[in-house]
Amino acid sequence: MDILESDLQWQVKRYKQLIQITEKLHSSLNIDILLGELCVSLKELYPDFSFSLLLSQDTYSHNDLPIIELEYDSENIAAIKAYASGELQFESSLSANTAIIYAPLKGKQVTHGVLQVVAVNSTVFPENEMEFLNLLASAAGSSLENAYLYQQSMREISNLQLINETSHCLNSNLRLVDTMTYMSDQIIASIDAQEVGFFLFSNVHGNVKILPGSTPYFYTQQAKFYIDYLKEKIELEKTPLFIGDINLPNMKNSPSFHSILAIPMIHSEELKGFSIVMHQKPYFFSFDTFKLLQSLIHHSSLALTNSMLREELEHMIITDHLTKLHSRKFLDEKIQGSMKESEEGTFILLDIDNFKEINDTYGHQVGDQVLVQVANLIKRNIRGEDIGARWGGEELALYLPGCPLEKGVAVAERLVKKVSENSEPHITVSCGVSYWNKERLDGYNLLFKRADDALYIAKGTGKNKVVIQENGVRVS
Ligand code: GH3
Ligand code: MG
Ligand code: MG
Repeated sequence: MDILESDLQWQVKRYKQLIQITEKLHSSLNIDILLGELCVSLKELYPDFSFSLLLSQDTYSHNDLPIIELEYDSENIAAIKAYASGELQFESSLSANTAIIYAPLKGKQVTHGVLQVVAVNSTVFPENEMEFLNLLASAAGSSLENAYLYQQSMREISNLQLINETSHCLNSNLRLVDTMTYMSDQIIASIDAQEVGFFLFSNVHGNVKILPGSTPYFYTQQAKFYIDYLKEKIELEKTPLFIGDINLPNMKNSPSFHSILAIPMIHSEELKGFSIVMHQKPYFFSFDTFKLLQSLIHHSSLALTNSMLREELEHMIITDHLTKLHSRKFLDEKIQGSMKESEEGTFILLDIDNFKEINDTYGHQVGDQVLVQVANLIKRNIRGEDIGARWGGEELALYLPGCPLEKGVAVAERLVKKVSENSEPHITVSCGVSYWNKERLDGYNLLFKRADDALYIAKGTGKNKVVIQENGVRVS
């Protein structure tokens, strides 16, 4: 009767303790605090035993807690058995005079690990203590599960916020360089990447173009190994790559970057390019990070394509398709700008002599090639700030901002000479030159008119020459 009564009292005491501990565990959603509470409670309950927590996911900083990662290929068969079956396991060793309990930390969804309790100087464990430890481990398991789920949902929320914010910003019609720089900054900040690169498959076979926003490392020779290797894999497999520790076949030394994520950029079901994210530490990125990056890249592909299309269109508007010189519209704008900002400038109008004959003799296609030859000579003979443009038909124009008349005339003379010496079939050109400066009242329509008049005179006086028309006064 006495024994029964003391046993009953023991049970009541233990279950009160169980309720108290469970309440404490359930009140925290912080995994570190929760595991700390569990260890403190165990120490209080069993001051003579030693404990370890064998956990299947090691995603927290455990301070001084006795936490060991549970490995599936571990030699600790009883621990694995408790983990896999969800049943308490008991092991005793007569030689070492120890008894060990493995109680699974069972949640509602899965088992999160195993509580290992070692009793030294004993080879048995009282039945009711085993039962108690089993219940305690279960309570800890479901608290741990709650905390994991909470942590996961917080992560998901912050990822969604990031995707939302990114999409919002990308939809605001940014320029390509701004779109990609923004993406790069977001990726570095949100997933702690060391290097981020964006690459576009170019029309020239086998080449990739490095897009703006890529970190400087990707422009180095060393980065080529990674880019080439990943490009080949992405082109072949067309799926994202999650690499924990890369092994590059062609790299002599061990690679500087071990962790790599590579995501294809697909738009309208077409593989446009890919993005690479790297870190030096092996296994640095989690699978969650990989999924987040996929979402970010997926959301940015449309914005990227839009920015590129718009810039291509702009380029088409400001350049002439045949000669690749600037368009007349672009030239007009630049001259007007220059007349506000610079002190002076020279304008040259250039027309191919007897071009009709060239077309008639050799055909329009050769005529086009001649036009391209002249355009290329212009491009090679002007400075960076000078503007070469297709004025219309076979008339080309040059504007030299900040350039005094004498220098401008020298450029025109040189061009006339070079065309005559280098064209095939042989042609010549005539130039009309006009000039403006701040001291004289002038307008850009007048500047054009003077050059046109000068050109007319050049045509009427023998061609293959330069004529200058200075503020209404013919100089030569
Ligand atoms: P001139 O020395 O007086 O300039 O004689 P021209 O034969 O060059 O006469 P003009 O400048 O009036 O003739 C322009 C010719 O250039 C007419 C047209 O057939 C040709 N042309 C204009 N644009 C192009 C072009 O894009 N490609 C080709 N192949 N020919 C063009
Ligand atoms: Mg003409
Ligand atoms: Mg002509």
